[in-house]
Formats: sequence, structure tokens, C-alpha cells
Amino acid sequence: MQNKSEEYWKEKLTPEQYHILREKGTEPAFTGKYVDNHESGMYECAACGHPLFSSDTKFESGSGWPSFDQPVNRENVELHEDGSFFMKRTEVTCKNCGAHLGHVFPDGPKETTGERYCINSCSLNFKAKE
Ligand code: FE
Repeated sequence: MQNKSEEYWKEKLTPEQYHILREKGTEPAFTGKYVDNHESGMYECAACGHPLFSSDTKFESGSGWPSFDQPVNRENVELHEDGSFFMKRTEVTCKNCGAHLGHVFPDGPKETTGERYCINSCSLNFKAKE
């Protein structure tokens, strides 16, 4: 799905989703619908439905964005060095469709991976466990 046109995504996504997923935007902190979601299930890509993060790896980061200490499978995401805004950050995208998800930082929980995947709620679609 990496070769879908921007026209395709404009039609499929809401304007807010399009801005974040295709133009690498960021939703304001503490506004996303999944920041305080504590249900068990899978967070899928809002654009293509690819499974990205399990609720088992979600933790309270206090950042205002849903935070995970690892993806459900390292193969399901892609990491890119991002030097925009004069910050050195690592961007996280969906491996299946290329959608922008957020960034990963090295200040996650020490007990597990030490990583913090800081992800926009807008980029995710939560599927509760049945
Ligand atoms: Fe995707």
C-alpha cells in the first residue's frame, strides 16, 4: 500500500487524519482519544488496519500521547531519522502503508525496552479483545 496516491488518502482519511498520517502532523497533547484508554486489545493503523501496538505494551508516560514500549512486531513499523524542527528524532511509520504514526524516544520504561513509542491517537484504530 506504499504506492497509493495522495488522492486516494485524501478521500479515505478525514482532514485531521490526512494531516497527521500523510503530512507528518502531530495532534495536540492530551487531546487524542486513546491517551487514557486502558482496555485490552490491539491498536491498528488508522489508514490500513495493519496491527501496530498491543495494549499489553501501553504505559503511562504523562506525555499526553498514547505511549508503548514496543510495537507488536518490529517488522510492522519502519523507523526513520528525522531532523525536522532542529531536533534529532526517530520517526515511526506503518510498514504496510507508510503512514506517519509518531516518534520513538530512548526514555521509555527501564524494566522493559527503555523505549517510548509516542504515537498519535489519530494514527490508530483500537480493536478491543473479544
Ligand atoms: Fe498503515
